[in-house]
Amino acid sequence: MAAIIDGKAVSAATRANIAGEVSALKERGVSVGLAVIIVGDDPASRVYVNNKKKACAELGIYSEEYALPEQTTTEELLQLVGQLNARGDISGILCQLPLPRHIDETAVINAISAQKDVDAFHPQNVGHIMIGDYHFLPCTPAGVMRLLEYYNIDVCGKRCVVIGRSNIVGKPMAMLLLHSNATVTVCHSKTRDLAAICREADVIVAAVGRAGFVTADMVKEGAAVIDVGMNRDGNGKLCGDVDFDGVSAVAGYITPVPGGVGPMTITMLMENTVTAAKLQNGI
Ligand code: NAP
Repeated sequence: MAAIIDGKAVSAATRANIAGEVSALKERGVSVGLAVIIVGDDPASRVYVNNKKKACAELGIYSEEYALPEQTTTEELLQLVGQLNARGDISGILCQLPLPRHIDETAVINAISAQKDVDAFHPQNVGHIMIGDYHFLPCTPAGVMRLLEYYNIDVCGKRCVVIGRSNIVGKPMAMLLLHSNATVTVCHSKTRDLAAICREADVIVAAVGRAGFVTADMVKEGAAVIDVGMNRDGNGKLCGDVDFDGVSAVAGYITPVPGGVGPMTITMLMENTVTAAKLQNGI
């Protein structure tokens, strides 16, 4: 039976350190602040933004929310980002994605100062991650790496399979595993024999967005299975990409959903906000 990787516990331990850093910075007169922009009324985005604000409050990080109407234009959004870039009390800027279709998402991401880009989506930061010389890491892949480290799951020389190749999760995830000397295979919707590729893996990271996608027959005995997926089942209940009950019987380690990768994503955002404050203050 697989050992459960407890994202809530790792998150709590990490947050305690972050809270300590925030108060030490405050004593030095350095403000740590996060601006969160949300456009429109997507219910899932609303939940994510509320959780981010809650985490800021818990850790003593100042936060501001900009809840803008659906019909906001790209120009209006760029103007707001420009104002936030210029503010000394705002260390990090996060624009909750996805944005409404009429907004030029790339223009908005590119407009956020690379030093305040706590999501690490700016092309400059993406390039830094590619060459392995970075300040910020995208929150979800960084959270996965932290979970692996915490449970002493060393990926060096191991076969790791990432299912999904999005810019937000799959691609940076593969890059971080590669930086840690794993042998990485990235699978996507055009991959042939995906199940056979997965069966070779010591570590599987599933970031597909399909409930129950990874089943027990795709998992090697003892493998670590990390479930990034956040889906709703037929009853509206939150579930991951992995058939938890079936895979638990085969895997060595498994992350639950909820309570696995999710809490780590927000914690890594908080850590990035502190990093941003330090960076902007030459610390
Ligand atoms: P995305 O942009 O939709 O990417 C999904 C990826 O899965 C794509 O690369 C796609 O391949 C691949 N895929 C889809 N169907 C497939 C199939 N049948 N076989 C193999 N690959 C397939 O999603 P995302 O933003 O990366 O997010 C993935 C999941 O993680 C979602 O459930 C999301 O809600 C969740 N998520 C969770 C957190 C967290 O904090 N836990 C954070 C971010 C995202 P193609 O490229 O070929 O289309």
